[in-house]
Amino acid sequence: MRRKASATDNVSAARLALSDKRSIFAHSKDIRMNNISQTLKTYFGYDSFRPLQEEIINNVLAGRDTLVLMPTGGGKSICYQLPAIVAGGTTVVISPLISLMKDQVGALRANGIPAAALNSGNTDADNAAIRRDCLQGRIKLLYISPERLMNEVNFLLKDIRVALFAIDEAHCISQWGHDFRPEYTQLGVLRREFPRVPIIALTATADKITRQDIVTQLHMKDPQMFISSFDRPNLNLTVKRGYTQKEKNRAILNFIDEHRAQCGIIYCMSRNNTEKVADILRRHGISALPYHAGLSPDARNRAQEDFINDRVQVVCATIAFGMGIDKSNVRWVIHYNLPKSIENFYQEIGRAGRDGLESDTLLFYSLGDIVLLSKFANDSAQQAVNLDKLNRMQQYAESDICRRRILLNYFGENREYDCGHCDVCRNPPQRFDGTILVQKALSAIVRANENIGIRLLVDVLRGAYTQDVVSGGLDRLKTFGAGRDMSAHDWNDYLLQMLQLGYIEIAYNEGNHLKVTESGRKVLFGRERAMLVVIKHEEKRSKRQKAKAAPELPLDAPARRPEDELFELLRAHRKQVADELGYPPYIVLSDKVLHLLCSVRPTTVEAFGEISGIGDFKREKYGKGFVALINRFLKEH
Ligand code: ADP
Ligand code: ZN
Repeated sequence: MRRKASATDNVSAARLALSDKRSIFAHSKDIRMNNISQTLKTYFGYDSFRPLQEEIINNVLAGRDTLVLMPTGGGKSICYQLPAIVAGGTTVVISPLISLMKDQVGALRANGIPAAALNSGNTDADNAAIRRDCLQGRIKLLYISPERLMNEVNFLLKDIRVALFAIDEAHCISQWGHDFRPEYTQLGVLRREFPRVPIIALTATADKITRQDIVTQLHMKDPQMFISSFDRPNLNLTVKRGYTQKEKNRAILNFIDEHRAQCGIIYCMSRNNTEKVADILRRHGISALPYHAGLSPDARNRAQEDFINDRVQVVCATIAFGMGIDKSNVRWVIHYNLPKSIENFYQEIGRAGRDGLESDTLLFYSLGDIVLLSKFANDSAQQAVNLDKLNRMQQYAESDICRRRILLNYFGENREYDCGHCDVCRNPPQRFDGTILVQKALSAIVRANENIGIRLLVDVLRGAYTQDVVSGGLDRLKTFGAGRDMSAHDWNDYLLQMLQLGYIEIAYNEGNHLKVTESGRKVLFGRERAMLVVIKHEEKRSKRQKAKAAPELPLDAPARRPEDELFELLRAHRKQVADELGYPPYIVLSDKVLHLLCSVRPTTVEAFGEISGIGDFKREKYGKGFVALINRFLKEH
């Protein structure tokens, strides 16, 4: 049946293809000159382009090959979607994951742009219908997986007029990248089979080898490269050091309390922890689900779908989660543990705030993380590289200069000024002379013959009669209890600082025992002074506040402040519309649009259509409902 349908349609489509063998964009030249801004407004509802978008679109429309490097949330999609709308024929988009395709196709259709995805998630009948629509020239953007593409290169694609190939997540082509997909390496066939069709490749992963790999493997002709800044100014950066598990959990509960009804992701190092943290959150009335590679595909899909559709507020996940998530209203990301590299970290926090609204990121990091990650790196095949990456990550976490500068410099973008909204900029660290404190710790290590790990050391310093302390005879050391005036938390923090300052090191091959280094000895014997960073105790305060705090509310709970009421009404209406249509809420309208509606309060459909992010289609489709709601609200207030 499928065969038959395509065979009958083939004839007319082949004619269509033959009639336009020269420049697929020739007829769109006039449109191009003055109308791409208009198209942006009509279809996407935006008044202006983001940096580089216009240049990229013009380059594509001129029929040239294009390579785009832009951070997550930078606005890559429009760079090929807008050309697809104004050009004749169909733009074929290669995308690695069904969930990504689904999201993009949903977003396009929600803007009235005919798009479809050919993939194994569809029934045969669906796919047959899509092929038919393509052959009849009714589809502007066709999303397709690389495997599927190979099947269609000599069939469907030869029968339709392909305007442009867009390779999304193009770094998947490179073995050097972290998301290598063998199927992507076959994409070289496109240039061979369709020498005249321009290619645009897009990625958020920027390193030079990968870049070169993309160009070579796709046989791109003299590609114009567009590299935008990797800065994500809407992401707030905060690091918290040396928390125990308990303190972390408490801090997270406080954090979520301050981010009521806002969706977020908690990244954990182990599967076990994802389950534990999700459990704790649920016990405190927060809707949360774990996500890791050990769960059944079904359970994973359900978690992802629930998150995308705002049915669950928090996902506690290993790094397995995220690649297929285009959800624009992830409002925060927490790292329960230190990630193993800055690349990983940046990619993971990048999942917050795609809509450009301010979003919070919080990284916890402890000695235990370093011990474990160092072990992984040491045991890995690329030991030197991985240790170096971990080291850079650690430096970021320990930094007392602007954290954004460190990130951007890491990615080769020279940034010479401070950002003003990372925790270091907001709260510059103060130092004090901690020589005596350091001497106490170092002396205890030496007296224990450098055969002591971190936890035991803290017990010794605090004078705790634990079983290990007593059985090891450590309570007889002269330094036993020398630091009982300080909490275990503070000792953990100072020990991390000592590690970072190079006074101690961890012998990973000797049961993670602590060793005093040469520079440590200089401090121990009074030849040098040690300057430590003052620890801030904000969490303790929150803990007390917490006692008074109201119990956690579910995701659809009513707002606390009256001025948020309209926002909540709009959000509830969006959810209702989304559920009726079977779309995720953020595809109906983004959080950013909701905030604009909330402050502008349009009372007519025309005024509704003026809001940035609302194109003609959404205006007609949703205008009445939202405007009625706003009018009702205004009458009541
Ligand atoms: P990327 O694919 O680079 O991660 P997207 O293409 O998903 O980013 O865009 C991120 C968000 O920015 C989307 O919500 C998109 O609608 C919005 N966006 C893109 N271009 C513009 C623009 N010119 N003005 C305002 N918002 C934009
Ligand atoms: Zn800063």
